[in-house]
Amino acid sequence: MNFNKNYYIMRIHLFLTATLILSFFCCESGANDKKNNTISEQSEERAPAPDDYIVDRSKQAYSYSEMLEDLKEMQNRWPDYISFEMRDKTCQGRGIPLVYFGNKEAEHYVLIQASIHAREYMSTLIVMSMLEHYLVNFKDGSFHELKLSDIFEKVCLVIMPMVNPDGVEIAQRGEQGAVTEDVKQWVRANTKAGTKHDQIKSNARGVDLNRNFNNGFGKDRNRKSVKGYSHYPGASPLSEVESKLLMKVAKERKYACFLNYHTSGNLIYYGCGNAPQNVNARALKIANIIKNHTKFEPRGSGHSAPCGSWADEVEVRFNTPSVTIELGTRNPVPLSEFNRLYQKNLWVWADLAIQIMNNKIS
Ligand SMILES: [Zn+2]
Repeated sequence: MNFNKNYYIMRIHLFLTATLILSFFCCESGANDKKNNTISEQSEERAPAPDDYIVDRSKQAYSYSEMLEDLKEMQNRWPDYISFEMRDKTCQGRGIPLVYFGNKEAEHYVLIQASIHAREYMSTLIVMSMLEHYLVNFKDGSFHELKLSDIFEKVCLVIMPMVNPDGVEIAQRGEQGAVTEDVKQWVRANTKAGTKHDQIKSNARGVDLNRNFNNGFGKDRNRKSVKGYSHYPGASPLSEVESKLLMKVAKERKYACFLNYHTSGNLIYYGCGNAPQNVNARALKIANIIKNHTKFEPRGSGHSAPCGSWADEVEVRFNTPSVTIELGTRNPVPLSEFNRLYQKNLWVWADLAIQIMNNKIS
């Protein structure tokens, strides 16, 4: 009898304890839900366990060859959603990959490029990690209650994750990143003269690719007259394989907009001094979409003179908005900033694609 009584008291005690614990966790998760920003409420996603990531997010210097291996693996795993081709080769013999994510025959296209500036290679790691996220969630993930597969059926992302592989390799590894003896010597000479390789922005021929375009060519206030780690625009517009390839890709189809990933500053540049008003206005709309996610401030370049940058060129040549996202607080961006930058920028592509589908930025 006594045993039975104790047994029931114990059962009731256990039940009450369990209820208390459960209600505590429910309240906690409720509070967390409220704290989370609207983006996560509007999106459904799946993230692989860290060990299953294709892109190794633990490396400060994510290399050209790792990127190529990762693209191959992505294409093997998701052949229906991603493909890539190797395009023109740099002076150091490195092919530049061009990636298609989503429906290659879509109604709309966005051209995304990263690492046109060498030391800004963190932008490649961010873009590649974002790409993996979209691939993992392509079939079942959603944003604003729209399935990612439906969004990217209508909008194809054309991505150049590393425009300037020679420069990136030099920024990461110094003279070992160069292949030919003349470039190795050039890097050595710069080191001797006191310029560290991790500050290079140019390609292996010492040309700042983001000053090598026609609109405003040679007009940069900081331009240099000889080859160097930055601000030398080259002998003439499009003198470089990398800039020529960008232009070729831009002419291959009509793009709804151009997205350019640079570092650093945690801000957004939009517009161009001599672009038509309506193009700058559309660029501002895109900048505001990105601001919603990142909280980066948009900064208009509508009143400053063009200086031969990619954004200057495409806005005027194609009457198409171009927006530049400057990631991180310094160059090179330390890996410790990766997670925050990745989370902030993650849903930009889906949100932008929806706006394009709905003709909100045309
Ligand atoms: Zn840059």
